[in-house]
Amino acid sequence: MLKPVSKFISFRVDWRYSHDYVTGMCAAFMEKAMGSRVQLHDVSSIKCFADHLVYVPQTMSAEKRAMGLLDSAMAMGVMQHKFCERYGVQLHHHAPGRSGAEGICHSIMTERYVLPGQVAIGTDSHTPHCGALGAFAFGVGATEMANAWITGDVRVATPKVCRVRLDGRLNAHVDAKDVVLHLLQLDEIKSGALVGLVFEYCGEAVLHMTTDARATLTNMVAEIGGMTGLIAPDDETVRFLRERRGVDFVLEDWMHSDAEALYAHEIVVDCSSLTPMVALPGDPGQGVPVSSLEAAVPVDIAYGGSCTGGKFEDIAAYHEVLAWGVERGLRIASGVQFFLQFGSQDVRRRSEQAGFVQLFKDLGVQLVDPGCGACINAGPGASERAEQITISAINRNFPGRSGPGALWLGSPSTVAASALAGRILSFDQLRDQVES
Ligand code: SF4
Repeated sequence: MLKPVSKFISFRVDWRYSHDYVTGMCAAFMEKAMGSRVQLHDVSSIKCFADHLVYVPQTMSAEKRAMGLLDSAMAMGVMQHKFCERYGVQLHHHAPGRSGAEGICHSIMTERYVLPGQVAIGTDSHTPHCGALGAFAFGVGATEMANAWITGDVRVATPKVCRVRLDGRLNAHVDAKDVVLHLLQLDEIKSGALVGLVFEYCGEAVLHMTTDARATLTNMVAEIGGMTGLIAPDDETVRFLRERRGVDFVLEDWMHSDAEALYAHEIVVDCSSLTPMVALPGDPGQGVPVSSLEAAVPVDIAYGGSCTGGKFEDIAAYHEVLAWGVERGLRIASGVQFFLQFGSQDVRRRSEQAGFVQLFKDLGVQLVDPGCGACINAGPGASERAEQITISAINRNFPGRSGPGALWLGSPSTVAASALAGRILSFDQLRDQVES
């Protein structure tokens, strides 16, 4: 039996991107080592994003301001601006006339730039998001990015690959987030044995997922601990590129694994048996079926957004549940604040065109322009008190991640259903409750 090789290789990168937390650090490292007259490789394929800090001035507490943290945070943004100006790098920042950013880095990279078969690196653990398009996209550190800005290359150890076969069809209102929360609670993942592997998703359930749903699978490879997540491009990818980006893309034969490819590990999931999942506060690996919750978990905040839960198909899922509820006379439950934050301005515009937004407004949903925001306790939708309970569509719920309260993770439809019910439940449970 052949053994997967393990050695370092360098290869050319198609896209290099960084956000406002890290661009300045990369630039500082680069200029410290190379001086300030560096020639960057192919500047047009370097992108920068002001997304993490966009809501910080509005939301940072007086206490933190008094500690000088606002000045420190804003200094990172200034460094990013200066880098982009000095080297002619495109910066996606505040959207003109809007309160938020143009979009979260991974959202925009997937919606505008990355193509199947390409390689992308980003200074963020959720860079595998772009793997939904069949690209090899992974996170790098500031030193690696500084090097890649100059050389156009990146050096990695050849990774081993774990194939994740998602057999069968997902039931209605069970989605990619539920699949990931299921994977995350498996012993073989929780043990750490698969850390650093490439996670290649395939199988019938994947074939029937939209590209937005696939991006939830690949995005949350960060929580799984993999190097990246990858899905072979197919007709759905071609549809996404044509409908969402106006790109007519022709797939090539090499853009999938060989039939006889060897895998270091394989996980097989019967998706037809999965039910909606939630992760208990503290760790995304603490997933349980929503139906197994014995006591009611009251909700103070419902948050739908972030790179994981703010894609167009996610917004469509929130809308589907809320529209169903409105038809039956439901409103957002008393005492619940429901925040919806678009992943990008493209998603916001598309949601408006689809007619989703008016319903959200009618229900008093607090619509938030794009940015990382509550996902990193730096924007509307983060909890403010330890006793608050949030059901959230973001990807991780480590203590303090989105404020001091208890943060539960769920799918977009679970977030919306819980907002209507005032307690954590799945859309199917809400339907049973209302229609029985
Ligand atoms: S939305 Fe959250 S997970 Fe996504 S890039 Fe921003 S901070 Fe990271």
